[in-house]
Amino acid sequence: MKKADFKKLHFFSYDELDYKGNFIFHNQEILRMTKFELMIKLDMIRREIEYPIILHCTYEPTGHTKHSFHYVGMAADFHFITDEKFTTQIEDILNIIRINRWFVGLGIYPDWKHRGLHLDVRGRTARWGRIGDEYVSIDKALEYCYKNKL
Ligand SMILES: [Zn+2]
Repeated sequence: MKKADFKKLHFFSYDELDYKGNFIFHNQEILRMTKFELMIKLDMIRREIEYPIILHCTYEPTGHTKHSFHYVGMAADFHFITDEKFTTQIEDILNIIRINRWFVGLGIYPDWKHRGLHLDVRGRTARWGRIGDEYVSIDKALEYCYKNKL
């Protein structure tokens, strides 16, 4: 995307801070590689869900699984700032995805320090969770979240 594309977004800016407090999009490689469609979807989620989204990363050249959509700027990891339960956050985002009929990848990460999510605009449906170091089905991850009252 380009710096000017932020004018078309309501909830994200060129001066967006990531969870470490860095200006994520001031990195020109991240700005250039991050797909605008991804940011549009995050902007829509933010509008619907009403709690702020803190980005962990969008485009990253390394550090994710093989063939990760982060490597092509089509994925974001993030968490919401809210007192709502994590399970409620997941239900909310799944509703938004269903209502809008998006074909996206969604991963849930209850064991992150900031419990969070992965969204990617792969154009197909994919769902998963990660418990500890293990990738599991989203159902198993949700069960884990409900059991632990997350
Ligand atoms: Zn991710």
